[in-house]
Amino acid sequence: MSNDAGSRVFEADVLVIGYGPVGMTAAALLAQQGFDVLAIEKHPRLFGLPRAGHLDGETLRTFQGLGIGEQVEIAARAIADFRLVDAQRKPLTSRYLGEDGHGWKPDYISFQPEIETLIDGAARGFGARVVMGLEATGLAQDADGVTVTARHREEPDAEPVVIRTRYVLGADGAGSFVRRALEIELDDLGLFPNPHLVLDIEQLDPDRDLESLPEVAQVLDPARPVLAGRWNGARWSRWEYTALEGESRESLEREDFAWGLLAEWGVTPADAIIIRRAVYDFRSTVAKQWRRDRVLLLGDAAHTQPPFMGQGMLSGIRDAVNLSWKLAAVLRGQADGSLLDTYQTERAPHVLDLTRRSIATGQLVTMTDPVAASARDEAIRAGTMPPPAIFPRLGAGIVTPAGAPAAIEALGGDGRPGLQARVVNAGVVRKLDDVVERGWRIVSRHRVDRAIFTPAQRRLLDRLGMRFVHVTRGTADGALIDLDGDYDLWFRGNGRKAYLARPDHYVFGTAEKIDDLPALVDELAGSLAAAGWRTNTPPFTEE
Ligand SMILES: Cc1cc2nc3c(=O)[nH]c(=O)nc-3n(C[C@H](O)[C@H](O)[C@H](O)COP(=O)(O)OP(=O)(O)OC[C@H]3O[C@@H](n4cnc5c(N)ncnc54)[C@H](O)[C@@H]3O)c2cc1C
Repeated sequence: MSNDAGSRVFEADVLVIGYGPVGMTAAALLAQQGFDVLAIEKHPRLFGLPRAGHLDGETLRTFQGLGIGEQVEIAARAIADFRLVDAQRKPLTSRYLGEDGHGWKPDYISFQPEIETLIDGAARGFGARVVMGLEATGLAQDADGVTVTARHREEPDAEPVVIRTRYVLGADGAGSFVRRALEIELDDLGLFPNPHLVLDIEQLDPDRDLESLPEVAQVLDPARPVLAGRWNGARWSRWEYTALEGESRESLEREDFAWGLLAEWGVTPADAIIIRRAVYDFRSTVAKQWRRDRVLLLGDAAHTQPPFMGQGMLSGIRDAVNLSWKLAAVLRGQADGSLLDTYQTERAPHVLDLTRRSIATGQLVTMTDPVAASARDEAIRAGTMPPPAIFPRLGAGIVTPAGAPAAIEALGGDGRPGLQARVVNAGVVRKLDDVVERGWRIVSRHRVDRAIFTPAQRRLLDRLGMRFVHVTRGTADGALIDLDGDYDLWFRGNGRKAYLARPDHYVFGTAEKIDDLPALVDELAGSLAAAGWRTNTPPFTEE
């Protein structure tokens, strides 16, 4: 097809602009659901150097859904021990960055290019079309769709490419063209006071152990705070050095300066090559608007945070997960476009909370004032530092309201990811998501008889494709066996008999008794209808 100017027009259900880790995850999730997805990336090839290193269990679960969980687990490495150490590199404490309960280890460390290759493979495997070297330069939308103009970066004289699509996902990073084209402003949460020098090395002999290099450690040395760790096995390693007052970017970026720092870890040019030397300023931002009609922002285009909790990319991947099932419903005509507004209302408070925690963590671990640093170390040694809080719940949207009498504030509670643990199905041990297809589910400790629902409620459950998942410690017909007792612990510990989870695994709400489920389904119907889902609004009319 051509337009009036004679340019070739490409068409797609969804155009993803920017093929970094977030764009490729979004492309994979949508292509997996059968949509015609086109992704364009201005660089001619995938960025071959790491930025993010940390992955958490929630992200591994997302990759599991894309069929690459185990490959990612092999390429990444579960972190056995993330230590905070003092200036003498003596352990102060260990901690997790992620959380248990997702069916994977809480934390992994990885070499980003390896992970991107796997996500890219999944996206293409599901049929996403990816065009590298194509930069979006123009964007206009109307009632029916969006027209994007793009140019081949390496062929500046070539005709611009025109793409007509129903929706655009702007996953084009912190400097987002899409965000600028829409004139969306950022809320600025501030610049982290110290820049950071990031050094990545590749060992010449990956089998040789660098004795002094920890698995991952945050060195709380006020003379030079640094995060150090083996990014993947022994081959790639990373240091993130806090710049000290008065140090210029030029001096930090000098190669001899880098080798001087690495020498303190016993690393010399005979051991490794430096593959990346970069000074970063960490600015924290959240876009004021994440959706403008048919165009949505995600990943660093929508928000940025410092890396002290390793949650920047992971927050973007959560965006892709949150958005993809809602956009699928809109594209299938099950919901109005207004459903997509819940993407921001749910995700923005979550990311804002993690950003604030990340800034606070950074302030704690990069102290350069020796007196304050010594008081901090003493507090850690004395165990008077409060333990990290559980991850935030989603903001308002398709979820039981915060503070509602029935809501529970626990991992797996309302607005947080539902538990995934090992179950036995027909004699085979699997993770829950490998047994139960992605979609809406009611996971319960006892069998749920569909007769407890009214015909109208049953119609809604059928329309959503709700799956009933009975997980038990004992054996029962059609039930999955709760092999490790994790579900049992969760149900008992929280005084609940069931929870209702959305296609992104986040829990809509929980039920104290199985008999409370019909009321929970009514609540879901109300919540969906308010958000733009095309369904009967309660009270239901009986058939
Ligand atoms: C030192 C450091 C350490 C970090 N550590 C972690 C960590 O451990 N864990 C973690 O979760 N996060 C971490 N982060 C954050 C993480 O790197 C980012 O949040 C993540 O890369 C964002 O991914 P993205 O896909 O949104 O954006 P990007 O990775 O920036 O990708 C955007 C893509 O869009 C392309 N693009 C831009 N404009 C256009 C256009 N007009 N047309 C077409 N394509 C375009 C770009 O070329 C790019 O490939 C770290 C960051 C830094 C700097």
